[in-house]
Amino acid sequence: MKFASKLVHFNASPGDPLRPMATPIYQTATFEQEYADSFGKFDYSRSGNPTRRVLEDQMAALENGTRGFVFSSGMAAIACVTHLLKAGDEILADWDLYGGTARLFGRVLPRAGITVRYLDASVADNLEEKITPATRMIYVESPTNPMLRIVDLKATAEIAKRHGLLLCVDNSTMSPYLQNPLDLGADIALHSATKFLCGHSDVTGGVVVVKDAKLAEDVYFLQNAEGSALGPFDCYLVLRGLKTLKVRMDAQQRNAALVAEFLAKQAGVDEVLYPGSPTHHGHALHQAQARGGGAVMSFTARSAAAAKAIAEKSEMFRISVSFGSVSSTICVPLKMSHASIPAEILASRPIPASLLRLSIGIEDAEDLIEDLGRCLVLASS
Ligand code: PLP
Repeated sequence: MKFASKLVHFNASPGDPLRPMATPIYQTATFEQEYADSFGKFDYSRSGNPTRRVLEDQMAALENGTRGFVFSSGMAAIACVTHLLKAGDEILADWDLYGGTARLFGRVLPRAGITVRYLDASVADNLEEKITPATRMIYVESPTNPMLRIVDLKATAEIAKRHGLLLCVDNSTMSPYLQNPLDLGADIALHSATKFLCGHSDVTGGVVVVKDAKLAEDVYFLQNAEGSALGPFDCYLVLRGLKTLKVRMDAQQRNAALVAEFLAKQAGVDEVLYPGSPTHHGHALHQAQARGGGAVMSFTARSAAAAKAIAEKSEMFRISVSFGSVSSTICVPLKMSHASIPAEILASRPIPASLLRLSIGIEDAEDLIEDLGRCLVLASS
């Protein structure tokens, strides 16, 4: 089945004789058992829930994995993955990560004796020489966020395999419609479901998909032991959102290409970072490993003050952290989504104060472009 068909043709309620078209919300904490010494398929919702199971199976199918796991947020998914490691282990991570990931890596993992070293993973050669006997995991996003750099996922996966390391790819900016990290050799495909998977700004959720059976067992153990799974109602909302992932992403991506083209021609814009643009430095590599530029882009205004003015004067782009919603949003990453990036990373890899990140929605592109044009003029006066 092609991707568009997979999104709507799946068993919404396995084993249900009524065969509902939409997955029922099993809003229950426990399931009564027939026997005291052997359990049925579900016994307690922290350990497993039928609504959650449908979403987890659907995510595994969409990411071409064998098992999926959903969590209460993207951060809960990331935390779970880091709990696969132990004291003394090390993560090599690309420096351009979501601010919350950097906060977890910098302020929580050290308490458990896990260290994170940062590098520029967009240059695959950098990676091999940084690996030490303590390294256990390589952690990247591609495109990175908010600088929209491209990491060669296949080359990175080959290095990870050669050294027996886990490669975890945060695929939130692309969604499984546009990129499948497991097909490129990664061990873990991870998402903030809060973004494109849900698509409507009404759920926080996270996803982990793996292929390897032992890894799946370890992730399941942690999900159950730590009680970090997504609740049934939120699973239902993500399942509902997922059905329109392709039509939403197609519309958002079409709009994004038009917005990027417009911005590139504006006097008040220094640089546009959009991997879908042929002029983007990583365009060829991105096209080789993904199926579109997506709907997230960044651009630099003439100054930090101009960036603030553009964001605040916009009537179409709402000032908001996060991305991937049907509504267009704008953010100043340095002050918002990436405010928790440690100073030592920013010292060597600055995120410009004049950088604005846009997430393009499904509005009419003409309205978005007219609004941005107006804001650029106002910001320069
Ligand atoms: N990964 C990326 C790329 C993100 O942008 C975010 C949140 O903005 C997360 C992970 C964390 O997801 P959540 O906010 O659902 O915890």
